[in-house]
Amino acid sequence: TIGMLCMDKKGDISGACTTSGLAYKMHGRVGDSPIIGSGLFVDNEVGGAAATGMGEEIMKSVGSFLIVELMRQGKTPQEACEEAVHRITKKGGYEDFQVAYIAINKNGETGSYCIHPGFAMMEYRDGKNERVNSKSFIK
Ligand code: ASP
Repeated sequence: TIGMLCMDKKGDISGACTTSGLAYKMHGRVGDSPIIGSGLFVDNEVGGAAATGMGEEIMKSVGSFLIVELMRQGKTPQEACEEAVHRITKKGGYEDFQVAYIAINKNGETGSYCIHPGFAMMEYRDGKNERVNSKSFIK
């Protein structure tokens, strides 16, 4: 999955999400990526979030919408991503799958968090690309 969150010079936020889905998926399976609120959600008043990983878990917690709502309530993008991952990990059974989130708020602050180490996001800011290794629930 590729999730992309953008802020233009005026501070307007947009997002996009594309995926090939999970390997060996059942025919007809619909993952989180095309479901607004799960794989992607943007509210230009608050911020945006995007997801990758086990779509079923992301959909059950409507993860991207959850992150934007948590930011609306005052959480930073990082705190909101961590809370959304913890909603999944507290149910257990996460040893065998990955979920990762990225988020941005109206101040241009970003965050990312995943279950298992290894997820990274790219940040393009002021003409420079930077790889940001995501913090993870499992160290
Ligand atoms: N989230 C995608 C899905 O479940 C898969 C992925 O991120 O690789 O369809």
